[in-house]
Amino acid sequence: MGDIETPMLPLMEEIWQQTVGWQPNAEQQRQFQQLYELILQGNRSLNLTRITEATEFWEKHLWDSLRAIAPILQTAGEDKQVIDIGTGAGFPGIPFAIALPNYTVTLLDATRKKIAFLETLISQLGIQNATTLIGRAEEIGRQSHKRATYDIALIRAVGTASVCAEYALPLVKVGGLAILYRGQWTDEENAAVQPALKQLGCAIESVQAFSTPLSQSVRHCLYLRKIAPTPAQFPRTVGVPAQKPL
Ligand code: SAH
Repeated sequence: MGDIETPMLPLMEEIWQQTVGWQPNAEQQRQFQQLYELILQGNRSLNLTRITEATEFWEKHLWDSLRAIAPILQTAGEDKQVIDIGTGAGFPGIPFAIALPNYTVTLLDATRKKIAFLETLISQLGIQNATTLIGRAEEIGRQSHKRATYDIALIRAVGTASVCAEYALPLVKVGGLAILYRGQWTDEENAAVQPALKQLGCAIESVQAFSTPLSQSVRHCLYLRKIAPTPAQFPRTVGVPAQKPL
């Protein structure tokens, strides 16, 4: 522990305020710093992330996780159930849980080692509002006590848009939201994903385009509103959504 000095993350208070309409308080900033340290430590034995430089970590992990949920940060209040599907080292779910302590965040990943890492991380950070779940989204989405029980599903860097939608929508309540984190998003992709969304019982409520504040990388965020129950055949069995996308 602590044999290597971890660099300090930048504060970026003005950028938070201008681009997200929110900024971390002192306790949240402390948790971000500790999160960064624990991920760098975890990276020595687990392949958690390639993004290790402080400024890049701030931009690609912290800012990127929270920019997509700016509308939620600005109207926060009630207790809602959130699931982060394919959370990996905890993105975007951990920053979400730190930023919104009134929401309950379930961190789902198929890799046992990553979930074990997150268990320790949550307790070391003193995060009370996050829990972990090991499994494949295709299996969890078929379990009656998990299906259609979340207000919000988050999914970043797990697959194509239609695969992400098939993983996410079965878990979301009717009236709830799936937030797909994308890089590029073209009109062609937008048209191509429509039949899949229709089958899953959702519609694109909005697409937000933005660039990251330091390196000006392209980002898109798809907000999918669930408007009808997802038919029982979705999600299809393990591997099928990725092999035969809707
Ligand atoms: N969301 C994180 C990690 C992306 S890497 C980030 O943006 O940084 C993709 C992660 O999704 C991996 O940890 C992998 O184990 C997990 N994953 C891939 N397919 C999955 C599935 N079908 N169900 C659950 N987890 C899955």
